[in-house]
Amino acid sequence: MYQALYRKYRPRTFDDVVGQEHVTQTLRRQIESGRTSHAYLFVGTRGTGKTSCAKILSRALNCEHPSGGNPCNECPACLGIENGTVMDVAEIDAASNNGVDDIRAIRDEAVFTPASVKKRVYIIDEVHMLSGSAWSALLKILEEPPEHLVFILATTEVRKIPATILSRCQRFSFRRILPDDIKKRLLYVAEKEGISLTDGAAALLSRLADGSLRDALSLLDQCASAETVDETAVFSAVGLAGSADTAGLFSDLVRGSAPDALALFEKLYFGGRDPASVLSELLSLCRDMLMARLAPGGCSALLSGAFGEDALKKMSAGLSAETLARAARAIQDAVSGMAAARDKRTAAELCLISLCGLFPGAPRPAQAPAAPADPAPRAMAPAARRPAPAVPPEEPEPAEEPEPPEDEPPEEEPPEEEPPEGPEPLPGGPPEPEPPRDEAPEAAQPLPQPAPPGNPGEPDGWWARVLTDVKPALDTAWLFLSNETNVSASLSGGMVTLHASNAFIRNMVDSAAVKEAVGKASSRILGRSVAVKTELGGVTPPAGTADKLSELEKFGNIKFE
Ligand SMILES: [Zn+2]
Repeated sequence: MYQALYRKYRPRTFDDVVGQEHVTQTLRRQIESGRTSHAYLFVGTRGTGKTSCAKILSRALNCEHPSGGNPCNECPACLGIENGTVMDVAEIDAASNNGVDDIRAIRDEAVFTPASVKKRVYIIDEVHMLSGSAWSALLKILEEPPEHLVFILATTEVRKIPATILSRCQRFSFRRILPDDIKKRLLYVAEKEGISLTDGAAALLSRLADGSLRDALSLLDQCASAETVDETAVFSAVGLAGSADTAGLFSDLVRGSAPDALALFEKLYFGGRDPASVLSELLSLCRDMLMARLAPGGCSALLSGAFGEDALKKMSAGLSAETLARAARAIQDAVSGMAAARDKRTAAELCLISLCGLFPGAPRPAQAPAAPADPAPRAMAPAARRPAPAVPPEEPEPAEEPEPPEDEPPEEEPPEEEPPEGPEPLPGGPPEPEPPRDEAPEAAQPLPQPAPPGNPGEPDGWWARVLTDVKPALDTAWLFLSNETNVSASLSGGMVTLHASNAFIRNMVDSAAVKEAVGKASSRILGRSVAVKTELGGVTPPAGTADKLSELEKFGNIKFE
């Protein structure tokens, strides 16, 4: 029968335990000196060795020939405890046995001296799951424990342990295991198992394991079928293609390209990804970049994501630590608000859109190594592919215009024949039906009223006509442009001014594509050549303006391709 690697390589002595020397040394000394406690509390995150140490301790306490504080693992006591035939040592999972009756049963049994070994040992895993009355029952035993009784309590959540219990236990804190220690162990296990594991893959696995050796070995198990376990094999076996997407999403955001970011998000969404998990991955990427920036060299222990320090530095090149921190905070706020959000997809989209405004003018970072898709910026593609503007934009555009045509985002030719009323058809159908959006029909009505026909020269209603005209050529920007809370337009001489309600909105509409489209449409509708500029402020808001966020939320279900 196949045995999982983490079981097979579970440490059998204190010396085998990886990365918890501060715990194992103390325990070995106690065994050697015979000064052991009646109650131990092992605290630490999952996979750090709490249960392994509890099992070793239960043997060391009863071993007939302990050596250097370690159990011999050969005497009848050690062997009997290991294979479960010694009934005096019991392991209880408090997650499933958390009632007062379970603890009372222990109490009734605990008074009897052990039948075949020296100490009666109860290992209680996930002890924080005990109910209130079970705690009281446990406390009664701990107050006056018989000489032969030892409790080893293990928990991931020490804050849920009552103070009365804490004060009666010797507490040992298990650290997250350092990636270097995990890596060494992985290479050792791989060698023993005849798995060809590259150094890079071992490093990647040890980062992914986030301090848990058990997770690291389970991950190695998952990859072990590959002929050579290299980084690519890890990425595909662990389903980390998502990391490349996350890096791509980040790169879109840094470029300030909401259309690209939203298109990629939509792809992930219809690929079955949960909006919150997409944002969470984005958050850990930002955090890792911050760590790579603020604690260079020594930060390997702090990295949680799939990318190494060099890759992180490349991806965040040109971004200040403050910007990264602000982005991380914004994502964190969105993630924590998500539980309450009626429409998680919309909440995630809004977060992405606002993140685009966070990185204005940032130099383009290098593409993530795992996402080598295209090295060229895509944001300006639509503008570059259209004929030269009839009216040159007033402000010079950033120099990143030239664009190889081979990379065409799907939203370039928007088949926007349909009116925006009603829900958009979803490609391939959504994985599950969207909840009914009662206000949708009314809310998705930012469409301007078409001006009365026949008087195109009149300024009255010209802006509404321009909006209708430019809609097919613009994507996300149109949503902002057409929302009168965000943007209003004024005409003065040969100049159309787009007034934006805030810097973010201005950033959204101040693009060559928008100015070109608006300029062309206005020139045609007004019958003379006009230029277009954007300005911060000066919006003439419509009566009864709701706050901007609820305005934005109207756009939750709009499709951007
Ligand atoms: Zn022994």
